[in-house]
Order: sequence, then C-alpha cells, then structure tokens
Amino acid sequence: MKIGVLALQGGVIEHINHINQLGHEGVEVKKLEDFKDLRGIILPGGESTTIGKLLRERNMFIFLREKIISGFPVWGTCAGMILLAKHIEESSSGHLKVMDIKVKRNAYGSQLASFKKNVIINEISSEPIPLIFIRAPLITEVFEDVKTICTVDDKIVAAKQNNMFATAFHPELTDNLEVHRYFVNMCK
Ligand code: GLN
Repeated sequence: MKIGVLALQGGVIEHINHINQLGHEGVEVKKLEDFKDLRGIILPGGESTTIGKLLRERNMFIFLREKIISGFPVWGTCAGMILLAKHIEESSSGHLKVMDIKVKRNAYGSQLASFKKNVIINEISSEPIPLIFIRAPLITEVFEDVKTICTVDDKIVAAKQNNMFATAFHPELTDNLEVHRYFVNMCK
C-alpha cells in the first residue's frame, strides 16, 4: 500500500522510513501528480505557516482539502495537526480547516519546549509508547464527533475524527512503529 508524506518542508524521511518498516511504501508528495495511487497521507511536523504557504503556492491546497473532506485518510503530526485544525487560538486564520479541533501553537512555552514521555494509549497499544514533543501544539478543545485518543497531564495530545487523525507529538522520531501501524490500519 502506498502512503504519502507531504514533502514541502519539515520531517519527512523519518515518516517514510516508518511506513517502509511496516512493509508498505512511503512516498514523498511534492506535487499533485504524486497523489496517484496513495491510500492516505501524513502531514509532517515542521513549521505550519511555511507548509501552509507552500501548499497554496504549489496549487495543492484545494485539492488536498477536498480529498480529505471526501474521506481520504490523513494524519497530521505537530505542525500537520495545526494544518488540519478548524480553529487556532489567538488567530483568525487557519489552513486546511477540516478537523473540528481548536489548537494552541507552541503551547508548552520555551521552558518545556521539548520533552519525552512514555504513555499508554489504549486505542493504539497496551504497551507504553514514547511520545516526543517539540515546540508542540496542544488541542485545547474538541467539537462534533472528534474522539480524544490520548491525554498527557490532562491535556489532549491526540485526537481522531472519522478519516482524520492528529497528534501533537512525533512518533516518527522514535523506534516505535505502533502509531504508524494505527494510521496504516486507517488507510486500509
Ligand atoms: N510550532 C510549530 C508550528 O507552529 C510546530 C512544531 C513542530 O512541528 N515540531 O508550526
């Protein structure tokens, strides 16, 4: 199964390696033609403002947005989660605005900008999964039929709504494959 990773900016290769390790084919998506035969797409971490701008410049923005609305599986990690959110705290603009969540950018401030924590995510695995947060956003509110998948210190760090999955953390930066396996199952 071919799974795309949006490759305009940010941490792409680590996601591709994880997908490949699961026996599937990770594909870099840089232009519209790269969507051919994909069963789902990962929007990686990086800088949401930059990725959003490049999506528009490369004429992929409307295509991707409509594809997601029509049910195409998508997983946004960190900046990717910000791209999916319908609402961003302290901002009137947004990007794809497809997922009924409100996010706060750089929610952990500078002191706790990056940290790691082992957490059991019942929906994904009975074993603890290492979660890495890097200048991470938080989900401050969920609406409609969004399901909270993981909380850390009472804060929502992963959520799912139908074909859309969002994590504030970076599973691609650990050796653990469980979160990628979870998304691959969403693409089947
Ligand atoms: N703070 C970044 C943003 O707002 C996200 C950080 C990340 O993806 N590691 O886009």
